[in-house]
Amino acid sequence: FKVPHPVNEPVKGYAPGSPERASLAAKVKEMAAQKIEIPLVIGGKEIRTGKLAKAVMPHDHGHVLADVHLGGEAEVKLAVEAAAKAKAEWAAMPWEARVSIFLKAADLLAGPYRDVLNAATMLGQSKTCHQAEIDSACELVDFYRFNSFYYEQILREQPESMPGMWNRLEHRPLEGFVFAVTPFNFTSIAGNLPTAPALVGNTVVWKPASTALYSAHFLMKLWKEAGLPDGVINMVPGSGASIGNPVLASPQLAGIHFTGSTSVFNGMWRTVGQNLESYKGYPRLVGETGGKDFIVAHPSADPVALTVAIVRGAFEYQGQKCSAASRAYVPSNLWPKVKEMLVPMVEGIKMGDIQDFSNFMGAVIDANSFRDQKNAIDEAKASNDASILVGGQYDDSKGYFVRPTVIQAKTPGYRTMCDELFGPVMTLHVYDETKWEETLDLVDSTSPYALTGAVFAQDRYAVQQAITHLRNCAGNFYVNDKPTGAVVGQQPFGGARASGTNDKAGSMLNLLRWISARTIKETF
Ligand code: GLU
Repeated sequence: FKVPHPVNEPVKGYAPGSPERASLAAKVKEMAAQKIEIPLVIGGKEIRTGKLAKAVMPHDHGHVLADVHLGGEAEVKLAVEAAAKAKAEWAAMPWEARVSIFLKAADLLAGPYRDVLNAATMLGQSKTCHQAEIDSACELVDFYRFNSFYYEQILREQPESMPGMWNRLEHRPLEGFVFAVTPFNFTSIAGNLPTAPALVGNTVVWKPASTALYSAHFLMKLWKEAGLPDGVINMVPGSGASIGNPVLASPQLAGIHFTGSTSVFNGMWRTVGQNLESYKGYPRLVGETGGKDFIVAHPSADPVALTVAIVRGAFEYQGQKCSAASRAYVPSNLWPKVKEMLVPMVEGIKMGDIQDFSNFMGAVIDANSFRDQKNAIDEAKASNDASILVGGQYDDSKGYFVRPTVIQAKTPGYRTMCDELFGPVMTLHVYDETKWEETLDLVDSTSPYALTGAVFAQDRYAVQQAITHLRNCAGNFYVNDKPTGAVVGQQPFGGARASGTNDKAGSMLNLLRWISARTIKETF
């Protein structure tokens, strides 16, 4: 058995008139018309608690896609038990068998499940077809194929032996269960965080984001069809505290695989610290958290490439990627040209229902996000330190729609140059073109995050200066490209500082966090 060398899943274009567009559009229509019920899945059993929440479409919040059963302490207890029960057999299964299940999941997702997952992501999370395709189809397929490939490499890496002595590493899973907590913004992250620990033999309690339960339901179906045994991944939706508190109180907690806000991760870390003596070992904490991702342009930058990167980096998927460009520093010499291109480009962005495939943007995820964007816009309108360059309109009467907005900040310390907003509102500061080095200092000092960032320059020395100077400001650093759209196997993704533990998603480093190796020395 050898895991095939992975190649990235090709991105389909969904061009007008193409069969793939017709097929996806039909699936979107069919699924939108059919309200479903989503149960918890624990030990392979569907559980209906009767405590219901509604999964709605962000771009049409009156439209209910599903009634979702929510869990609490009792269901967490069941899920922890189910994970413990499934563990021995799953961990003892030959690694080739576990890998085969996820490679099959990849093939199902690349094939018959592609439309289902893309449609679910479009409807439930308001992604355009292209944004869904690069997420719930390609990136997730890539995660399964690359993780399987990396896992084999880890297993094959063995210590030296001597005559009469056999030394080996046994790559055991952690002792206990892993808690996966996933965000709304990427179905691929929801599909990766529970499965990466599972691949190497762990069993998992999974709490999907309350705003992405619709696609989570179809992920469970995908894994089941791929042959994942009951109890390996147990899905327990519910509020953060009602699920998180009992999970963290469990003595069997062995690890947390988290993507979400810095404050939630900090809270979990503290709770784990308080409970430390009650666990068997030190739980492995892996988190990808917030960001305030930057684009900094040198006076030598190409203004066209820069403007396109600002627009795509800031507004694709409504700016709701952790990697989204949400602050930009533009030198005064380039500003007239950039402004002249940026304003009409942003004004021209087509936004609306994702069922209209020609839209570039959908709605923001929910009422809370809408409120945050609205507050930032209103604040900028009222401020002496900032103004709205373009955008600034919002309307939540049907869906949570916020027009792509650029705030121009007079001072680089303006609130939205520093605070994460997680929406289609980006802030830009025009700096004196003679102050390049001071600007690099500002990029470093004005935000606690370090997830992604980009430099635009044609001057090679300036590129090198930025790479060196901003060394600790981003886990993913881009030169003359937008800071979003990392591809599995090409740009391993993750950040440091307040952006997380930087255990790159879809990498060997990540898989190793779910393995606790035993060294065995045998003499003859
Ligand atoms: N990997 C994604 C990107 O590079 C971002 C993931 C996230 O939002 O957490 O755009």
